[in-house]
Amino acid sequence: MAHAVRELFPEAKFAIGPATDDGFYYDFDIDRPFTPEDLEKIDKKMTEIIRSNTPFVRKVLSKKEAVEIFRKTGEIYKVELLSEIADEEVSVYEEGGFVDLCRGPHLPSTGAVKAFKLLSIAGAYWRGDEKNKMLQRIYGTSFSNEKDLKEHLNFLEEVKKRDHRKLGKELDLFSISDDIGPGLILWHPNGAIIRKTIEDFWRQEHLNADYKILYSPHIAKLNLWQKSGHWDFYRENMYSPMEIEGIDYELKPMNCPFHISIYKSSLRSYREFPIRYAELGTVYRYERSGVLHGLLRVRGFTQDDAHIFCREDQIEDEILKILDFTIFILKTFGFDSYDVYLSTRPEKHVGTPENWEISTNALRQALEKKGLAYQIDPGEGVFYGPKIDIKIKDSLNRSWQCSTIQVDFNNPERFDINYRGSDGKDHRPIMIHRALMGSLERFFGVLIEHYAGIFPLWLAPVQIAVLTIAERHSDYALEIAGRLKTEGVRAETKLENEKVGYKIREATIKKVPYLIIIGDKELAERKLTVRKRDGENIGPFAIDEFIGLIKEETENRR
Ligand code: ZN
Repeated sequence: MAHAVRELFPEAKFAIGPATDDGFYYDFDIDRPFTPEDLEKIDKKMTEIIRSNTPFVRKVLSKKEAVEIFRKTGEIYKVELLSEIADEEVSVYEEGGFVDLCRGPHLPSTGAVKAFKLLSIAGAYWRGDEKNKMLQRIYGTSFSNEKDLKEHLNFLEEVKKRDHRKLGKELDLFSISDDIGPGLILWHPNGAIIRKTIEDFWRQEHLNADYKILYSPHIAKLNLWQKSGHWDFYRENMYSPMEIEGIDYELKPMNCPFHISIYKSSLRSYREFPIRYAELGTVYRYERSGVLHGLLRVRGFTQDDAHIFCREDQIEDEILKILDFTIFILKTFGFDSYDVYLSTRPEKHVGTPENWEISTNALRQALEKKGLAYQIDPGEGVFYGPKIDIKIKDSLNRSWQCSTIQVDFNNPERFDINYRGSDGKDHRPIMIHRALMGSLERFFGVLIEHYAGIFPLWLAPVQIAVLTIAERHSDYALEIAGRLKTEGVRAETKLENEKVGYKIREATIKKVPYLIIIGDKELAERKLTVRKRDGENIGPFAIDEFIGLIKEETENRR
């Protein structure tokens, strides 16, 4: 592709062009953005170059020689890149007179390229820094055969269709407003009712699992965050303090210190252990505006957070319980496959090596007892302890980091928290931090794409739409909707003087799970004909019979 661009746009300067997980891109410095027509021309030129089956020749040069070559051709970006390479020798590849800096390896010749597609054009700052010049990026992908390429293009099409930002607008679920600020989510009624349903489910399951539910404020004295270590280890993700009556306060980036304060509010005994505190706690973290992305990367979000205080000999058992709980919650949303990672001690950390070892071993043993396959993520733990991360696979087999379980010896130390043991003496408890869904915002984004907006009945904002064919059917439609609502079903009526086909289309676009259509026959027989959102007709049902079916499906979260 770079060679084709060189032929067609001799004035372009070449920056970097790496391979990515599913393709490649190249950044060019050129005085105008590329157009779709340019892509077509580049594509044609690439096909010519491939047909010529020209060999790629690797040459090893001294760095000095390489700098000389690229300086002569005015390739300032290559010269800059070379100045940062420590090696004495570098490799370049030459093909049909075109030379590029590359570590390799390459295919033997251009003819080995069997299938490719240029995908898109985007602006990109040199080195991702908005203070640098904006370059023009071309994305593409390549496969060893046409069939695999086609499959990948279908996958990309499906990803585009499921984009949660697009579906969020179409289904009126949420928005992000310039007036409010980037990375801050407004939950619209349709999104909010889904969130409430998830929260209700989450709270009830936590109560069933012997957790206590908490609430805590959104700000606290800066002093608290200095004590917790966040101010030293996490400041780049925190906002500037605000002053209230001469004292600095800080928006909370985490919920932990609040739960510790509640723990500390009275004398604790081993008899109460383990103490499990859970909160849907809203936190605020600084993210550069350039990395914000819909619901997936935001500045304010609600964690489904919990902290467990226990003895050292209870850690493993608690981790096992949390793993079971996590798997149950994730399964409910249709996620049954995941990748598990055990993250170990990072460079920037607190606590003794012994504590790190005890806690890392407890996590490892729990994973092994559960028979969960896992990978080690070296150095990716939190500053206060090791963690287990669970990445779920969605319906397109994409991975998403959601659940996390972290062992912490450090905060109990910092905050000097104790419990009275069976020996009558004071001991230091262990703290476990965990989140199952991670953040409600991000999890919702993942859910929208996972379901393609076709939410299961228990989550669907409108569960049933009652449509009329003519005005004379309105009373009966209202009666049916009324019955459904008293049974706790989210039902809506469509009584307008519109063609029934139009009403069906409208409800189908909104992905309403069931449509009840009322006509003369339904009115006369007092029966319901029901149309599922995939177009299948079921029934006729007596109303009680239909309510029974709906309730069964909702309660089982199918
Ligand atoms: Zn925590």
